[in-house]
Amino acid sequence: MKTAIISGISGQDGAYLAALLLKKNYRVIGLIREGQSKELGGLTYLGVKGDIILKECNLMNKKAIVDLISSEKPEEIYNLAAQSSVFESLNNPIDTFKFNTISVFNFLETIKLVNPAIRLYQASSSEMCGKVNELPITENSVLHPLSPYATSKVAAHFTCVNYRESYKLYVACGILFNHESYLRSENFFVKKVLQQSIRIAHGLQDFIEVGNVDIKRDFGYSPSYVEAMYQMLQQERASDYLICSGKSISLKSIIHYVFDMLNISKDRCIVNPMLYRPNEILDIYGDNTKAKNELGWNYDYDFYKVLELLLEEELKNLPKI
Ligand code: NAP
Repeated sequence: MKTAIISGISGQDGAYLAALLLKKNYRVIGLIREGQSKELGGLTYLGVKGDIILKECNLMNKKAIVDLISSEKPEEIYNLAAQSSVFESLNNPIDTFKFNTISVFNFLETIKLVNPAIRLYQASSSEMCGKVNELPITENSVLHPLSPYATSKVAAHFTCVNYRESYKLYVACGILFNHESYLRSENFFVKKVLQQSIRIAHGLQDFIEVGNVDIKRDFGYSPSYVEAMYQMLQQERASDYLICSGKSISLKSIIHYVFDMLNISKDRCIVNPMLYRPNEILDIYGDNTKAKNELGWNYDYDFYKVLELLLEEELKNLPKI
């Protein structure tokens, strides 16, 4: 039986990945913050909480990671922990940069020291591409990050590439575009739109207030995206892969589609320029050919279909909201 360590187990992707690895008969160790007894709602929701070994670990402390990896002897590590919100990174740039880079260094240094055969997955992000000068984005596109979150992910990404090339470690970076699920936290756009639209439909709220909804993003579905993470660590040689749907959709279209499904009038959406970001990516979508060809990753969800699934799941779980 293989052992996998997942950092960021309390997050959206951590929960879906843990469920996937358990199905594949892995021994799964989930890392949570030191001194925090997390509710871990995502793992409970997926019915897997009892099957995961939870360990507290301060990812900023290399010795703690060395001790953990020396004793648990994992074959694979999936590093998903990060301050993952662009908006939050604008308010807390230094903490975001520190955590999102030092924790990655600590994993790489530990693997180099304890067992260079351990395979590491690093959660890179399409936000690294930022100011886009060609579409679709490919694995070779120029990076031009536009937020502290994005700069932290670029630094972590190239640190991983550097350790792969310099020390021959098996490090694969998944450059994932936005992906959503029922487990997405409430401060992210799609989840916010779904939850607030349901409140409007039930007469509990009047309007949704949004920033720039003309921007376009490439959105996908988290339970399918974690399958690509797993596949990235099963290849003969480590590499980096774009994981995306291949199409962009405007935030306005998402709101209108959800409003239409719930019979809400379009004038219930108010644009507030105060919510605009200082430097915004206008349109971005990626090319997933490499992932499809090399990983055998199958993804053909239209995002409107994903929205239908997500709304259905929100409505099914309504009493819990
Ligand atoms: P998420 O739901 O926000 O989860 C982030 C995880 O990181 C949580 O488990 C969180 O733990 C943990 N974390 C944050 N700060 C921490 C700290 N200081 N110490 C220890 N743990 C900390 O993110 P996600 O959507 O699952 O994404 C997983 C990874 O993929 C992240 O690295 C994210 O940046 C990256 N990514 C996500 C997307 C996307 O669209 N979802 C796209 C590209 C890349 P707590 O619960 O304790 O805060």
